[in-house]
Amino acid sequence: MAHILIVEDEEKLARFVELELLHEGYEVTKSGDGREALELATDNSYDLILLDIMLPGLNGLEVLRRLGRSHPTPVILLTARDAVMDKVSGLDAGAVDYITKPFAIEELLARVRVALKLHPVSDTASGSNNTAYGDSTSDAQNGVYRWKALMLDEKKHRVTYDGKEITLTNREFEMLKVFLTNQDIVLTRDTLLERVCGYDYVGETNIVDVYVRYLRSKIDEAFDIRMIETVRGVGYVIKSE
Ligand code: CA
Repeated sequence: MAHILIVEDEEKLARFVELELLHEGYEVTKSGDGREALELATDNSYDLILLDIMLPGLNGLEVLRRLGRSHPTPVILLTARDAVMDKVSGLDAGAVDYITKPFAIEELLARVRVALKLHPVSDTASGSNNTAYGDSTSDAQNGVYRWKALMLDEKKHRVTYDGKEITLTNREFEMLKVFLTNQDIVLTRDTLLERVCGYDYVGETNIVDVYVRYLRSKIDEAFDIRMIETVRGVGYVIKSE
């Protein structure tokens, strides 16, 4: 099943397109910020990206340029009416198609079908539906990380415990991923801060403790388990045993 990333900061429009695509049977991830979208597109393998141009963080054309021509995922630009220069620059930068807002949803769906057909992302990079789970190496290659009954699926941006969905913010998700990929390693607050907030983060370092608290309330407390352990004076760890 094709996985589509929608990058659109107009929430109503993004939600509408999401619902229509879900209805057609696609998997959908949404982002309303250019910088976040660039990270998502870099870290995951989507089959298609619908990319708005006017975005907070980083505009769509810049996202496209930074992804580079060698990025395998086809991009359809969502452009404002009459923004001819945007269309030209977008196609120059490697977009496969564009659609002008406001658009009829049927037209968008048709363009999505065409783009997926003409620009298939290679099998190795696409969805993880046929993955045989259990082999931790192939799991990690597929962006799936586990700890006991907890599973984090990076491509689907989804976390479950014992099959039950856990809703996390992006930063909580990032932090959990850092823990899952560093099991049995004690992570200092500085390391966590850098990995989750970026090395140029300026602000309270106790933000790490705040996110750990959120994760504990959503996971440890919600499922009555002990996942994130405090190492006094150092930081935090999750232990594989
Ligand atoms: Ca916009």
